[in-house]
Amino acid sequence: MSYAYDDQNIFARILRGEIPNRTALETAHTLAFHDIRPQADVHVLVIPKGRYVTFDHFAAEATPEEIADFHRAAAEVCRMLSIAPETGGKGYRTISNAGDHGHQEVPHYHMHILAGRPLGPMLSR
Ligand code: 5GP
Repeated sequence: MSYAYDDQNIFARILRGEIPNRTALETAHTLAFHDIRPQADVHVLVIPKGRYVTFDHFAAEATPEEIADFHRAAAEVCRMLSIAPETGGKGYRTISNAGDHGHQEVPHYHMHILAGRPLGPMLSR
């Protein structure tokens, strides 16, 4: 079964400029913007501009350029926000939810970048 992409999902609408966002970084293939309901002082969402539903969809079908651009953009956000340990930051967590058990709310692939406080154990239980 292949993925069916919903062009009306909220991130598709953000990419088309139909809904405003607080952009952290934009590159050729990637948009990073602040989450509307932040769960930490830093809560940025990194999304590819292409029509991918989940991490596994993106990794399987995106071009090498899209994949490299996405990860380099995410790393650049970490540097820009001074959370990367390499530059003295206190660190961060990246999360990507997929499907029902992953608790994915928006069916457009995204990476959460969370930081700004000790984030506790990886899972609540
Ligand atoms: P998921 O549960 O799919 O991994 O995460 C979706 C995230 O998108 C949530 O953290 C939610 O707060 C965020 N979100 C949902 N709608 C909007 C929106 O319109 N703008 C922004 N900036 N974030 C949104």
